[in-house]
Amino acid sequence: MSERKVVTRMAPSPTGKFHVGSVRTALFNYLFARQNGGKFILRIEDTDKERSKKEYEADIIEAFDWLGFEYDEFYRQSERTEIYKEQIQKLIDQGYAYISKEEVKEEGQRNSVIRFKNPNKLVKFSDVVLGDIEVDTTDLGDFVIAKDLENPLYHLTVVVDDGLMDITHVIRGQDHIANTPRQILILEALGFQRPIYAHIPLILAPDKTKLSKRHGALATLEYRDLGYFKEAIINFMALIGWNPGDDREFFTKEELITEFKLEKVQKGGGVFNIEKLDWFNKHYLNKQPKEKLLSAIKQYVKFEDESVLERALPTLIERINKYNDLQNENLSFYSHVPEYGADDLVWRDSDKFQTKEFLSQIIKILETADFSSNESIKKSLWSFAEEKGRGNVLWPTRYALSGLPKSPDPFTLAYILGKAETIERLNKAYKKIESITF
Ligand code: GLU
Repeated sequence: MSERKVVTRMAPSPTGKFHVGSVRTALFNYLFARQNGGKFILRIEDTDKERSKKEYEADIIEAFDWLGFEYDEFYRQSERTEIYKEQIQKLIDQGYAYISKEEVKEEGQRNSVIRFKNPNKLVKFSDVVLGDIEVDTTDLGDFVIAKDLENPLYHLTVVVDDGLMDITHVIRGQDHIANTPRQILILEALGFQRPIYAHIPLILAPDKTKLSKRHGALATLEYRDLGYFKEAIINFMALIGWNPGDDREFFTKEELITEFKLEKVQKGGGVFNIEKLDWFNKHYLNKQPKEKLLSAIKQYVKFEDESVLERALPTLIERINKYNDLQNENLSFYSHVPEYGADDLVWRDSDKFQTKEFLSQIIKILETADFSSNESIKKSLWSFAEEKGRGNVLWPTRYALSGLPKSPDPFTLAYILGKAETIERLNKAYKKIESITF
């Protein structure tokens, strides 16, 4: 066994979009193959003609491309009918399988299927994750492996492919553990070498229920479309059911290829926590080069003036975990003079007459202020704000600049907008309040 070149496979059925939970199975297979200088195969299991769709296959391939899970070989089970036919025939010829007539009660017709003749024995295997497993297959009866020679079913196709593709390690979810004894029986009958099995823990929601959309678990490419980084997805998924044995948390794909240990995968307790994913994403967001951030942000907010965007960048990034969070922010004031009512400018402890007076002085102060940073702006305005009451001065300034009850602080806003725009907006605010104090 030790001389066999490592070959792993990801074998998704294209019956839905490639779910994020499957990313981890693909990742573990990919990492294990790469760290052993082996082969990683992508095999589309599309024998279920009704449920398999080309669009889902395309989605799987696109997700693999996005994540950078390069595969060395690609197969489609629907193109391998002849191969399965030959193997089924072999099983029948050698007495391991037989055609059985099924009673179909309602129409009284008899349909035939191909069944595997169960030797009713004890199947033993040692799972890398779950340890030694023993199953008496008697209870499984003679199970169906194909509808007919042209229509093989899952257990048969998996075993034939794993055998002919020389798969050395079957790494898959624990939802497949119950399939393994049947597959071992077929494999022995066909004379293939047994792979090593590693059944990895299922991924649960934080409350230990079945993972679903409401926990933020989506199709893989939806994360891309929300502006998550593939580096974050990979890093996050790698640590569901596996850890390096110390407190390191950040791993690139290349580091994982070296560090990942299949024998260290836990038996259970894999939890998908979307906040953790956001936290990883924030880490990778903070590492993005400025040019990438600028061009990504431009897809969400239109900035008339490029220099405004440049100055706004740290403020924008600070408030989000992923690009799409920008959609929940009201950002139009960066490029448009905000709309608001004159009364909005008045701080709760103040009145409109005072506010008018304060605004005129704020304008005077800022006209000669140093706008090279938000600190320098703060410096020039701060003593006036302390003297007249912070709310009295800072509230109307902020409102004049953003038109919003919640926004970055007025010094940051003034710095981002620049002196000319700041003064213009404050003058507008002054005129607005002037119009109601006549
Ligand atoms: N096609 C199966 C599935 O989508 C996977 C088979 C396997 O990994 O053995 O769940």
